[in-house]
Amino acid sequence: METFGDVATEIPKILVVDDRKENLVATRKALKSIDADIIEAESGNEALSLMLHHTFACVLLDVQMPEMDGFEVATLMREQDQMKDIPIIFATAISKEEKYVDQAAELGAVDYIFKPINPNILKSKVQVYVDLHVKQQQLNELNNILARNNDELERFAYICSHDLQEPARMMGSFSELLEKDYQSVLDDKGKNYLNFVRKNSVHMQSMINDILTFSRVGRESIKCEDVDSNSVLNEIKEEFQKQLEETKATITSNGLPVVQTSPTLMRVLLQNLISNGLKYQKGNVQPAITVSATEDERNWTFSVVDNGIGIDPEHKDKVFSMFQRIHRKDKYPGTGIGLSTCQKFVELYGGNIWFESEPEKGTTFLFTIPKLTGKEQHVAA
Ligand code: ADP
Repeated sequence: METFGDVATEIPKILVVDDRKENLVATRKALKSIDADIIEAESGNEALSLMLHHTFACVLLDVQMPEMDGFEVATLMREQDQMKDIPIIFATAISKEEKYVDQAAELGAVDYIFKPINPNILKSKVQVYVDLHVKQQQLNELNNILARNNDELERFAYICSHDLQEPARMMGSFSELLEKDYQSVLDDKGKNYLNFVRKNSVHMQSMINDILTFSRVGRESIKCEDVDSNSVLNEIKEEFQKQLEETKATITSNGLPVVQTSPTLMRVLLQNLISNGLKYQKGNVQPAITVSATEDERNWTFSVVDNGIGIDPEHKDKVFSMFQRIHRKDKYPGTGIGLSTCQKFVELYGGNIWFESEPEKGTTFLFTIPKLTGKEQHVAA
């Protein structure tokens, strides 16, 4: 094993196929300074059998061999999943004519060299494929590590927040009971402390719920179905009904479409963006939210426009980072998880999310939902 940073890779292997022993010896000599294991085969059959059991960075394949020639070996290699992507360098003494070179190219040969082989040229050609193989291995390993870490992290967040739900609820319920049953015993200072405990348990429950939603994104399999975004919006309006009446806020839209996506994605996105639009307000204006959607060949683009306090463009990355908040917690309560959940969801389904804003004038959040090819999209009335 070789290590690169924290990533370990196997020593690369090169397969040299030639029916003549002296050629195998000469090739081994030419490649001796390359950091790789050189494995030899004296026939096409032996080479194919070796390729079934090893992963090779490249194969040096003699064209003229008895029984099975190099082209036949290459044809069989291209039919096998575990061999079809191995780079082939053909080596031949006689077939310099164009048609052989073309045939080699059609079989996916990455190179074609003529005997007598110049050892330096051979070495530098093989080195390129060995380096490429090592880089590919490192990339695959890094991807695996990343996927494993993400998975562990999400599982950890899920288990933690799931198990924290109950104690947080208990804290809330018991402080309510304490306030109700022991009113007469508590002085103002005691009531204040209790209020503080209750408020924090509510905040903790919101955090736990938001982390659970965040960690659930991606745990369920990706599924698309017809989602009527108009109906989703109407359900959300009903949820906010009380708040809309109290603040005289309005939520308007103009015929939102039916799109092929996850219903949970649509709900989480509209719910979070509308809730933020209603929350981050100046206080002296009636909150007004407008939801609309436009389409082009590839995407639906949804926008949620508010007339609130706006966001300074310098915070453009911060707002999508977990737990990052740019406005004061006492004035605008929140967990700083909503937009990161939105971003994670949208990106999982191949879309994007961003905002345009002018401080004090309002913010427009936009997100895209890629269209599925071959599916009709309809606009709901
Ligand atoms: P929070 O629970 O804090 O609202 P979000 O992830 O939804 O968390 O938002 C992150 C931060 O982005 C918020 O704390 C707020 O500072 C800012 N923000 C989000 N939406 C808006 C908006 N519509 N107008 C102004 N600021 C916003």
